[in-house]
Amino acid sequence: MNDRLAICPGSFDPITFGHLDIIQRAAKVFDHVIVAVFNNQSKSPLFTVEERMAMLELVTADMPNVSIDSHGGLLVDYAREKGAQAIVRGLRAVSDFEYELQITSMNRKLNEDVETFFIMTNNQYSFLSSSMVKEVAKYKGNVSDLVPQVVDKALKEKFTEQQENS
Ligand code: ADP
Repeated sequence: MNDRLAICPGSFDPITFGHLDIIQRAAKVFDHVIVAVFNNQSKSPLFTVEERMAMLELVTADMPNVSIDSHGGLLVDYAREKGAQAIVRGLRAVSDFEYELQITSMNRKLNEDVETFFIMTNNQYSFLSSSMVKEVAKYKGNVSDLVPQVVDKALKEKFTEQQENS
């Protein structure tokens, strides 16, 4: 049988322990996982795609079946191009559900060959999001137990840089 490939798509601006938990669990179930950074300009990203990818590379370095990529177009086209069988998304709270249902329905309409799977977040990360982390870090709050060390450092550098330039 062919290897099973899953895509974990997202903004990852920046990666948190919540994302990492989903990636680790997907990597146990699928033969190969591609974490794909999509540049959602409507979210006014803090980090460039390159910076986000570099952080993802570092924090998944110990996962041999996980690779990092980025894509500028439609997720379903990317999945087709890669020959992926699955898209894996994380679900935190009921509030995620409606949004995910809409995307999944649209993706299924565009490409019936790729199935979307949801992994429920570990309870301890239910209220964790990149935007929350950025908000706290911006005002010098402690996020060291919410993001990998390399991300904590990058957040401090980014906000210091922004303050110096303002
Ligand atoms: P997007 O902009 O596509 O929503 P995100 O980077 O915010 O991208 O999230 C990527 C994926 O990770 C989504 O499936 C999201 O639901 C999931 N995710 C984000 N934070 C968490 C968390 N704390 N626990 C579990 N899954 C999460």
